[in-house]
Amino acid sequence: MDNRTNGVSVIVQGDLKAIDRFTNEILSEAPPASRIKSIEVFPKSIEEYFKFSIAGSKISDDQITEISPDIAVCDECLADMMSDPERIDYPFINCTNCGPRFTIIEGLPYDRPQTTMKDFRMCRKCSLEYNEISDRRFHAQPIACNDCGPVYQFYDGVKTISGTDMIVKEISSVISSGLTVAIKGIGGFFLMCDALNNDAVVSLRKRKNREAKPLAVMFRDLAELKRYCFIDKSEEHTINSWRRPILILKQKKLLAASVSNGLNTTGAMLPYMPVHYLLFRYLKTPAVVLTSGNLSDEPIIKDDPVAIEKLVKVADSIVIYNREIKNRTDDSVVRIINGSLNLIRRSRGWTPQPVDLKFNVDGILALGAEQKNSFCLGKKNQAIMSQYIGDLKNKDSCDFYIETIDRFSDLFRFKPEYLTCDMHPDYFSTGYASVLEKKYNIPVVYVQHHHAHIVSAMAEHGLDEKVIGISMDGTGFGTDGNIWGGEFLVADASDFRRFTHFDYVPVPGGDIAVQEPWRMTFSYLYKYFGDKIDYDLLPAFRHVARHNLILVKEMIQNEVNCPLSSGAGRLFDAVSALLGLCTLTTFDSEAPMRLESVINSETDQYYPFYFGESVIFAETFRAIISDFESTDVSLISAKFHNTVAQVILEVSDKIRNETSVEKVVLSGGVFQNKYLHEKTLQKLTQNMFKVYTNHQVPVNDGGISLGQLVVASKKTGLCV
Ligand code: ZN
Ligand code: FE
Repeated sequence: MDNRTNGVSVIVQGDLKAIDRFTNEILSEAPPASRIKSIEVFPKSIEEYFKFSIAGSKISDDQITEISPDIAVCDECLADMMSDPERIDYPFINCTNCGPRFTIIEGLPYDRPQTTMKDFRMCRKCSLEYNEISDRRFHAQPIACNDCGPVYQFYDGVKTISGTDMIVKEISSVISSGLTVAIKGIGGFFLMCDALNNDAVVSLRKRKNREAKPLAVMFRDLAELKRYCFIDKSEEHTINSWRRPILILKQKKLLAASVSNGLNTTGAMLPYMPVHYLLFRYLKTPAVVLTSGNLSDEPIIKDDPVAIEKLVKVADSIVIYNREIKNRTDDSVVRIINGSLNLIRRSRGWTPQPVDLKFNVDGILALGAEQKNSFCLGKKNQAIMSQYIGDLKNKDSCDFYIETIDRFSDLFRFKPEYLTCDMHPDYFSTGYASVLEKKYNIPVVYVQHHHAHIVSAMAEHGLDEKVIGISMDGTGFGTDGNIWGGEFLVADASDFRRFTHFDYVPVPGGDIAVQEPWRMTFSYLYKYFGDKIDYDLLPAFRHVARHNLILVKEMIQNEVNCPLSSGAGRLFDAVSALLGLCTLTTFDSEAPMRLESVINSETDQYYPFYFGESVIFAETFRAIISDFESTDVSLISAKFHNTVAQVILEVSDKIRNETSVEKVVLSGGVFQNKYLHEKTLQKLTQNMFKVYTNHQVPVNDGGISLGQLVVASKKTGLCV
């Protein structure tokens, strides 16, 4: 057997039955994190072999083997931590079934000298196991033990502590006293504090400059998690899987109030590194906040010196270890919607697992969008998506973006022949496409934002036909120069027609309106009702200074700094602020999240609306305002969500009648909304539509690069 860059080749000798059984068992006995795509069997005349051996890895330049994502520590390794004399409590224990992968890899093929483990010389015992075919650690590249592997070190400005046991005890005492620890994880540094101590959480927020965005929480175990969150079977399966993502769950009991800041969900996860298990042995609290170690919107910090320099201001002590993180990854974030996986942030545990496509995308580099950026390389029929890069709005994120494009190109032996990017002229990624266009002298394909959203989901499902593409999104540059985002397209993988869209409304102040949703409320109401409304009486404007209200009105009247938007995100903003749930935001999508979060009643009722040329919500707003006197906001919110789902159904019906297309593809960030998404699915499937959405890449802008890749492959004629 040998590991090749294009897969594994195994030579087996024996009678046909035995070979057959062997082939079947490769599939049935495969380790959980493995992905066997195909097994090809063909006869070969060979010399006789007397023992099983593994030959050295072979490099074939044109093809690549897949790199495994990082895998949570397995149960057998956890058991070894109690019994294996050289690995008692060893915090970097791993085997062929678990441990770091992508984060430590420097080059292909994946062998120890090509990882950041190269500086650690294996001890005799590790080396024996590494070379023993029957051992669970046979060829486990990061193999290590207490004698020869990486170690942690604790530092708090006064003292330095070595020795795992001492360190773990010290961390737990620091956490118990309400302080914050910065701890080096698999793909970067994390900040940790007691999730039941509100002062601790508030102080962490202040120092990290993260005002209100919910924080992720790691629970001691599933039993503790179940005391605080509701969890069903498919959620349990997901949170326990080897990928160990952060899973958005419905709250049952409150942790420290500042963790979720009034939202009814918790971003929950379970321990995934050996050190997490060691820590919970001593921690008195059943749950800790575990959030990326960075300052506000910068990328997660991965290098010790940077962490020491920057996180000193945020954390009271810092825990490092002496192995380099080569590729940074954040924790992935997922939500289960209608029983299926929905990715919100695709990073640790997924990257760099490719998405298999029906389309040839070889040589295309898709540069993604601006927010929640990821990019994609095309290798034959595979899309290799980068980890979550973040918002390309600060220098560090842009540097991370450029550096990761270079790393991926290097790692996957990729040289672009085509480029593709968003149509937005001001996106950093669009600008970078021009830089690369000049550097390589190759063509750029510009893809409309929402077309890319729709095609990202089509690509996952191998759809190569006309579909009804519904993109409910915040923003996106439209072909008419306006901001799009409530879009009904008739699309295929190469082109689209805009069938209809949400009504255009002015966005007073542009980006400011995204942070001040009351402006959108005013904009909608003023458009539909002008001066016939007593604005002062509405909760949206209760805290708005009179002169600001007048200013916004004048901006709209004079069309000053008022771009037009059909964004569904803006509609949700407007309703959320109208109900007084969020008139000013402190984090991305706060207003829609708060609007979804208040729903606690079941209803099928919806508000009236009208659609002709576009979808008009005048009657919707009129009804909401009249409901507001007498009805609970929870019910109003549910009815509003149902209205949007009903719009989607009725428009889909009209498109089906006119075109006979009956496959509906849903994408765009608004579909992270579980209530809306499930309601929409329910209505569409009851009306005999076949519905598709994203499961392997995010519905938000983190999935855009996959759509761009496929549109570009169609437009350049790479695939017909
Ligand atoms: Zn293991
Ligand atoms: Fe988008």
